[in-house]
Amino acid sequence: MRVPLSLTANMAGYLAKKGLGGDKKFPLVMMLEPLHACNLTCTGCGRIREYKSTINESLTVEQCLKAVDECGAPIVSICGGEPLIYPEIGRLSSEILARKKHIYLCTNGMFIRKRLRDFKPTSRLFFNVHLDGLEKTHDICVERDGVFREAIEGIKAAKAAGFLVTSNTTIYKETDIEEIAELFAYLQTLGVDGHMISPAYSYAAVMTKEIFMSRDEIREKFRQASDLLERYNIVTSPIYMEFLRGERELMCTAWGNPTYNPRGWKGPCYLMTDAHHETFKGLIEETPWERYGHGRDPRCQDCMVHAGYEASAVIGGNKKFGDTWKMFTWTMSGRMGGLLKGKPAKTNGNGNCHHNGSSNGHAKPEAPAAVAAPAAGQGDEVFRIL
Ligand code: SF4
Repeated sequence: MRVPLSLTANMAGYLAKKGLGGDKKFPLVMMLEPLHACNLTCTGCGRIREYKSTINESLTVEQCLKAVDECGAPIVSICGGEPLIYPEIGRLSSEILARKKHIYLCTNGMFIRKRLRDFKPTSRLFFNVHLDGLEKTHDICVERDGVFREAIEGIKAAKAAGFLVTSNTTIYKETDIEEIAELFAYLQTLGVDGHMISPAYSYAAVMTKEIFMSRDEIREKFRQASDLLERYNIVTSPIYMEFLRGERELMCTAWGNPTYNPRGWKGPCYLMTDAHHETFKGLIEETPWERYGHGRDPRCQDCMVHAGYEASAVIGGNKKFGDTWKMFTWTMSGRMGGLLKGKPAKTNGNGNCHHNGSSNGHAKPEAPAAVAAPAAGQGDEVFRIL
């Protein structure tokens, strides 16, 4: 299967319950940002810029859990900032897991080895590691050398300890899709369980606008991506991928991926902030949803991000006959921790990945390393500000 059975079953039960209850606006994935502090300054990240004045604030575990309970989404994506520098990330995760939720812990991977002992492997928890290319490219994107290598060591340690791991790749204008195929081929040799891909979109807070794409450019990129990446266990929904390739339209359903952070519930969406609401109910009831989305708000013009449109495939109004069957067969046809059947990886035959001109190579696949502490001093600067 493409994702654990528990996730498929939970989601099916949740959707059936919401359908029977006649709910019109309900969440699928809650984006929980316990803090905005981060050890990196990635070029495409709006968080560290938008929340500069409150970068040292964080939510308590109790505030997080109250929001998780009020929201009710079956999946909680813990992001930020860097969630692995949140001091109580272990307790927060185990409390959310005790509520029978699934967690995607979105991390840059730098502190996986240091914090691994705070977690227990379960089919409800994924380390979702941000990787935007091979070593050279990724380190440029995150503006620091050595990040790719440490993230890879973290992935190896997590897999050796029995955890589920996915990768999360943002596609920019300059992204070389062939390099992403090489990245996935390499991650497959490490046993990575799935890959998320999503187009970047310009935050108001990000000054480097030229890295973002128009809708036409996104469609072109994802047509190429589908051809090259379909052999890997892509966990981005097939209907959302059709939308990204320009084969169908979807309307923004930003309430499907609501964001909660130290300022409150961020409205209307993960990207844009017109208001912060004290409660999830407030976000749903006070946001003028009909004013947002492509063709309604100029700021939404080129947006195709997952936080606005991936949930639309399930809870939006543009459903097509056969979508449910498509989602079902897609879920069943995947394979965690490896290639899809009959679709060989693009490797050089030795288990190592090809390299193209845009990369200076990366760590070679090898036996998973034992869990070890990161280098002395790593992350100290971040822990000091918390
Ligand atoms: S289209 Fe939706 S997700 Fe995208 S910026 Fe507009 S409101 Fe946010």
